[in-house]
Amino acid sequence: MSEPDLDRSEQQPRGSGRPSDPSTESGDCLSGTAYESAELPTHQQLATTNQRRREFRSDARRALGRPAGERFKTKSGLNIVVVGGGPAGVAAAVTAASADPTARVTLIDDNPALGGQIWRQGAAPEPAVGARKWLRRLDQLGVERRCPATVIDTPSPGRLVVADAEGTSELAYHRLIVATGATERFLPFPGWTLPGVLGAGALQALVKGGLDVRGLRIVIAGTGPLLLAVTDLVRRRGGRVVALAEQADFSSVMTFGRSMWRSPSKGLQALGFAQSLWNVPYRFATWPARAEGEGQLERVVLVNPLGEANVVECDLLACGFGLRPNVALAQALSCDVVDGRVVVDDRQQTIVDGVYCAGEPTGIGGLDNALLQGRIAGLAAVGRSEEVRSLSRRRRREQRFVAVLEKAFRLRSELRSLPETDTIVCRCEDVTWGRVREFDDVRDCKLKTRCGMGPCQGRVCGGALEFLKGFRPETPRPPFFPVTLNTLAPTGASERTPASEDAPEE
Ligand SMILES: Cc1cc2nc3c(=O)[nH]c(=O)nc-3n(C[C@H](O)[C@H](O)[C@H](O)COP(=O)(O)OP(=O)(O)OC[C@H]3O[C@@H](n4cnc5c(N)ncnc54)[C@H](O)[C@@H]3O)c2cc1C
Repeated sequence: MSEPDLDRSEQQPRGSGRPSDPSTESGDCLSGTAYESAELPTHQQLATTNQRRREFRSDARRALGRPAGERFKTKSGLNIVVVGGGPAGVAAAVTAASADPTARVTLIDDNPALGGQIWRQGAAPEPAVGARKWLRRLDQLGVERRCPATVIDTPSPGRLVVADAEGTSELAYHRLIVATGATERFLPFPGWTLPGVLGAGALQALVKGGLDVRGLRIVIAGTGPLLLAVTDLVRRRGGRVVALAEQADFSSVMTFGRSMWRSPSKGLQALGFAQSLWNVPYRFATWPARAEGEGQLERVVLVNPLGEANVVECDLLACGFGLRPNVALAQALSCDVVDGRVVVDDRQQTIVDGVYCAGEPTGIGGLDNALLQGRIAGLAAVGRSEEVRSLSRRRRREQRFVAVLEKAFRLRSELRSLPETDTIVCRCEDVTWGRVREFDDVRDCKLKTRCGMGPCQGRVCGGALEFLKGFRPETPRPPFFPVTLNTLAPTGASERTPASEDAPEE
């Protein structure tokens, strides 16, 4: 068995990922452009892809699968890379670095500042209060921060390709913790592409970034606790929430609310939300059926299961139909993904040796769950099994909360009839619902309509079609995020890992 060759500074073919990967053989694979000329894959090609995934897993087993803490250790410690600088990733990096001071820990995030979604700093000069102690610890422990930087490829077990302002480089790891968070789900309805309609999380990010919402009439709609967080924020910044439409029933939301009181931190959060709802028209079992206006949003039609419609005049409509685990990187690493979630054991270990996953990619569970899973992954990565076991009860409790959350805010079937024939589903490629609904297979749909092949690479329509048509997200092709030729081209994918200085001991 051989360790990954961390000293090797060979250059990879730019942006090509695995040179022999059939999905990249057509050459230029910038952000899906290669799909344009692609033909439907044959059964043989699909079988080859599955075979390659199996090979990747067994290569990883050979390269990274040694018990942590013993032979695996190099003279200067394990090389641990954490992807995702939200609560889960930050907690994983801090925990691994403090549990094993010889480990060299690198934390990568594609935002300019660490913090992920909930601790997003935006234009604020200081990190969010909850984040401060974690970020201080990161620096005290000497964790290397790489942000903004994006992981765009996983060329072989033990290696990642990272893109940043200087171009691309390879980064080697002995242990990898995937903490890539979640994305918001949008659902298409007539008028959803009008200026003035945006994602609930997007509005939150814009407001944190300095968008002035004072005096604006805002409708917030969709489902889940994120709507409450956004309501709270925009009200504190002077916006007028003229309607808050939650698609779930009153009884489901109450069940969820009661479950929050079982934990002190969640109870406090619930209290904060309850206060911010004072005077807000909060409607349950209600959703937006249509957004209207002349070239700009002017009003929203909200409906309920009885078919009653309510027209609300507004300046902004912020919609979010729940969160989806971001499993793209885990999928590319050949981890198992079931029902849209990365499968992990109680150590946060995926089925790929040396690869752990923490936070929202394993299921939507909120801040406490993300922090706890991050800590467990950090401990497991450095072989601290005792401590991992001591957290198992808390882990099970958080898992129950994940299940409650999922059940309470399950999307109702009526939402499947929201789009009309001419409603745009894929905004990047202008593909309508009328076109998309003919297809039963995601790949077929993609190749024949270009749905999901624009700049966002299906990040918006993918979630909608998962719900509307049951399409499962496909394993992403590198580069996982659109990058410019400049990023890929200039000087070659150079080895910039600290591990290149110390080859692991055999
Ligand atoms: C839009 C949005 C807004 C939210 N707002 C709230 C809120 O106000 N309150 C609340 O309680 N919860 C909120 N949540 C839920 C929140 O995500 C969780 O409670 C918690 O923050 C999850 O932590 P995490 O570390 O698992 O993921 P995140 O906080 O999402 O962190 C994941 C990080 O990984 C980065 N990343 C992903 N892929 C890559 C890659 N390939 N390369 C480099 N970096 C990558 C992402 O950019 C992100 O910074 C929000 C979720 C979303 C999607």
